[in-house]
Amino acid sequence: MQKIEHIGIAVTDIDASNKIFEKVFGKENYKSEKVESEGVVTSFFQIGENKIELVAATNPDSPISKFLSRNREGMHHIAFAVDNIEVEMERLKNEGITLLNDVPKKGADNKLICFLHPNSTNGVLIELCQEIK
Ligand code: ZN
Repeated sequence: MQKIEHIGIAVTDIDASNKIFEKVFGKENYKSEKVESEGVVTSFFQIGENKIELVAATNPDSPISKFLSRNREGMHHIAFAVDNIEVEMERLKNEGITLLNDVPKKGADNKLICFLHPNSTNGVLIELCQEIK
């Protein structure tokens, strides 16, 4: 893995949360994007070299809806940039880590993504991200 790509924060109302984090960061988001396949809408803030992703559900079956039915809004996942997501997924599988999808999915911000099951990683939801070239 190369570096932390972004930190994901689960929110119920993306517009209200954009306003809060605009105040916190002193700047506007640089991108907002719906990911239909995941049932989410995302909003990205660039803070120096780091990115924060706000993520809200767009339907009741979304993983974010399920998360927010069990947890308060807040820290949701840590995403790591990888060079080759398929190689990294294979390596992690061989290490006994459970992946939430068998093949990479198209995520927000021009990325191929894969989540690791938090039961394999001390309760931390980890996302792998590979830039689509
Ligand atoms: Zn993410």
